[in-house]
Amino acid sequence: MKAITAKPGVKGSVQLSEIPQPFPKPNEVLLKIMKLGIDGTDRDVNGGFYGAPPDGQSFLVLGHETLGTVESIGREVNNFGEGELVVPTVRRPCPENCLNCRNGESDMCLTGHYFEHGIYKLHGFASEAAVSDANYLVKIPRELADVAVLLEPTSIVEKAISQIYEIQRRMQWNPKTALMLGAGPIGQLGTMLLRLRELEVFVVARRPKEDLKARLVESTGAHYINSMETPIDSLSENFDIIIEGTGYAPIAMESINQLATNGVLCYLGVYGPSQLAFKTDYLKEMVLRNKLTFGSVNANKRYFELGLIDLQKIKAKFGNLLSNLITSSLKPEEFQRAFLPDEAEIKTIIDFT
Ligand code: BGC
Ligand code: ZN
Repeated sequence: MKAITAKPGVKGSVQLSEIPQPFPKPNEVLLKIMKLGIDGTDRDVNGGFYGAPPDGQSFLVLGHETLGTVESIGREVNNFGEGELVVPTVRRPCPENCLNCRNGESDMCLTGHYFEHGIYKLHGFASEAAVSDANYLVKIPRELADVAVLLEPTSIVEKAISQIYEIQRRMQWNPKTALMLGAGPIGQLGTMLLRLRELEVFVVARRPKEDLKARLVESTGAHYINSMETPIDSLSENFDIIIEGTGYAPIAMESINQLATNGVLCYLGVYGPSQLAFKTDYLKEMVLRNKLTFGSVNANKRYFELGLIDLQKIKAKFGNLLSNLITSSLKPEEFQRAFLPDEAEIKTIIDFT
């Protein structure tokens, strides 16, 4: 069968390969892959500076954002039927089965020995068929079939927002404004989720106001700010919530200054090195105004389930906005195009059907 593979550690190694179809173990489900989303992590693996193949193998099947149908089930699986639509989560517990992995929160794994489909020591879903442990599959209602490939990135922001509210139970807190940094999939989905919570949302990104990214943001009732015209340190407002989704360290650091008193900032990027020195006056600001910053990675099944409910609400509230996030749909043979930089892109999908 066809699979999009890479050799982690080898720059530009992504290729279309022919590999044998996997066979489901007793606890696994064989999935027929329909759609697969490509994101920055896939590009980082292809960039040669992230990811690892399964032990003893030289390549990794890419892909962790997917929608598939159940093709067949292992003999211990009884809660899935053939033809059902499903989305698998990404991370699997560490062999030590640490406290958090044991409690269904491998996103909070303590040992760091977890596995991630398509990223870290476990083949991904960028192939005509793939296997997953049945315990990590989320059933998808038919009416979400067109957008469910977005559930994985949605789960990432769903976790970020859940954590923000959880953390802020440290006080009486009634947030009114939020700043979303970046207008890619994370920025767009984050904006929709925050708008569902009726917050006044501002989105900062580099694209001009006429761009699709800006128009989608504004169609949710959020405000779009072009950072080429209005740099973020010139914003007069302070925000109760900031979600950093650009992955760019200088922006990530500057934005601490834009937090309101008692505000909270969540970092979602995998930040590369930067020449910037940390501004120590930010530390004083953080102390004197109870500011808080934290990082968040991955998402467990609970956040996929919350995301599913919210995708339904988004469809009801904003119509076909979600489908507009998919800016291109490619055949597996066209995979190279998904790995080229494109500033106007929001989400590129590979269609395996
Ligand atoms: C995925 C997460 C994963 C992270 C780090 C992201 O692209 O969405 O599930 O934990 O990369 O590997
Ligand atoms: Zn663990």
